Amino acid sequence: MPSSRFRLALAAALVLVLSQFTSAKAASSLRYTLSMPAPQTHYFEVEMALSGFSKQYTDLKMPVWAPGSYLVREFAKNVESVAASAGGQKLRADKIDKNTWRVYHPKAKDFTFRYRVYAFELSVRTSFIDASHGYLNGTSVFMYPAEGKALPSTLVVQPAPGWSQVSTSLRPAGGTFTYQSSSYDELADSPIEIGNQKVLSFEANGTPHTVAMFGNAQYDEAKLLGDMKKVCEEAHRVVGQNPLDRYLFIVHNIERGTGGLEHLFSTTLSVSRNAYSTETGYVNFLGLVAHEYFHLWNVKRIRPIALGPFNYDQENYTHMLWLSEGGTSYFGDAIVQRAGFVSPEQYLANMAADITLVENTPGTKLQSAAESSFDAWIKGYRPNENSPNTGISYYSIGQLISGMLDLMIIHETKGEKSLDDVMRYLYAQYYQKLKRGFTDEEFQDAVAKVAGRRYDDFFRTRVYGTETLDYNTTLGYAGLRLVSAPTTTDAVLGATVSMTSGKPVVTGVVRNGSAWQGGLSVNDEILAVNGIRVTDDPNKLLTGRAPGTSVRLLVNRDAQIQELSFPLLAGTTQRYRIEQLPSPTAEQQKALSKWVRMR
Ligand SMILES: [Zn+2]
Repeated sequence: MPSSRFRLALAAALVLVLSQFTSAKAASSLRYTLSMPAPQTHYFEVEMALSGFSKQYTDLKMPVWAPGSYLVREFAKNVESVAASAGGQKLRADKIDKNTWRVYHPKAKDFTFRYRVYAFELSVRTSFIDASHGYLNGTSVFMYPAEGKALPSTLVVQPAPGWSQVSTSLRPAGGTFTYQSSSYDELADSPIEIGNQKVLSFEANGTPHTVAMFGNAQYDEAKLLGDMKKVCEEAHRVVGQNPLDRYLFIVHNIERGTGGLEHLFSTTLSVSRNAYSTETGYVNFLGLVAHEYFHLWNVKRIRPIALGPFNYDQENYTHMLWLSEGGTSYFGDAIVQRAGFVSPEQYLANMAADITLVENTPGTKLQSAAESSFDAWIKGYRPNENSPNTGISYYSIGQLISGMLDLMIIHETKGEKSLDDVMRYLYAQYYQKLKRGFTDEEFQDAVAKVAGRRYDDFFRTRVYGTETLDYNTTLGYAGLRLVSAPTTTDAVLGATVSMTSGKPVVTGVVRNGSAWQGGLSVNDEILAVNGIRVTDDPNKLLTGRAPGTSVRLLVNRDAQIQELSFPLLAGTTQRYRIEQLPSPTAEQQKALSKWVRMR
């Protein structure tokens, strides 16, 4: 125990330290300069100017993942040429773990940290630069001070020679291509497109919307913008509140589009450049717009508690991606249908196709929607040849759970309320009032509040368990029913075969099917069927056989020839269809018109 005099001295020292800390903190500032002098080499160059950092050292970190894409991608792997300096003097900068650099600056509160990032992965969740354009997600280019995530920052973009456009939802800060972020979270959540992209605009829900189009694509500009506006306005009607003062669509028109990624005030869409020229392609594009735009509510603001503020150092686990993603897919389809781009008949046919997909996936019986969400990091984003046998996509199953839940609420409230009202409640209660995400239990409470009854059994068995959704009872509320027929009555091999380097090679074996029981493996090259040499998919040779027929396969496995003989089992897949009941009641008709709306 220290003496009283010592204690007094300690207290005085503490006050001094605290006051230093607060004043240093108040004076801290952060400025990023992003340059790209040689875009053809695929490098971004970053300079961080840090001021008012009074500790002996500062840790600077690169995220390991990009929010919205649930996989650890180790963005630090692309960092090189790290250098720190203060007043022209080189500072010691040690790498202390996979994504952290410790800069020692004992005598200087202000210092500079420079590095280069190799960016040659053009996807919505990574970063890319070549001679034609640059695109970046903050999470894979900008580091942050470990203790300064909340610090506002300034960003100056210096486009490559000949480039005149910078598109981002970050707020301008005065000065050429200069922007401000209120925190690292905002910088990380505001992708940037740099180049000579075409910049279009429209107004929706009283807010300016910008569309930055990269790549050559043929589309009717006025129609495209008009239709995007319709989709945005329809999406807005779900929650009925607009949290935006601006919104940006970055669209990459490339050979093969790969989807989108949502952000707080923007989205990036990766679209096949010929998508606009066919009706299906165009409606799919509007569906992608609807999905990503609806995310500005569902997941960016109406969110599970684990999804923000983010921990950029590791996986962020939630059981609720079935709602954040599957629910967004459900609303995305509904928005496009409500806006009149898809007929009610086509909408129900699409839903039946989703049921066909889910119910024919063996993994549906093994992995619940909640488990699929939780394991996105190690399963959903890391699929292998056995994935369909062991799990189910939280997008597919989540979309169906959302659809059934919507109809259950409509039925329970006699057509007065729907899943839209649950989203409205969550937005008001958790985003606006409590300013946080919700727990699994709180989501179920929200549904109960809107519906006027609890669905504990439904959540336990269908969301956290693997019981099949009770489609027929639920569809019956709207005067509909689900009918199914076997895809085939023939025997089937139960394996997918792809031509690899001109050879038929097994790429998947269906759990409990003929090939599974008979010992056929992924990577087996099929040489002959019943003594006949094959050079094509053997499934074609095996059509029309009765269940129980035996088959002999000659296979090449690891350069050793093997013969397999096994009986062909009947196919077990079903094709589903949703049809109307012959004479629906007035209540059923009311429920249907609430569930499948048409404006
Ligand atoms: Zn999504």
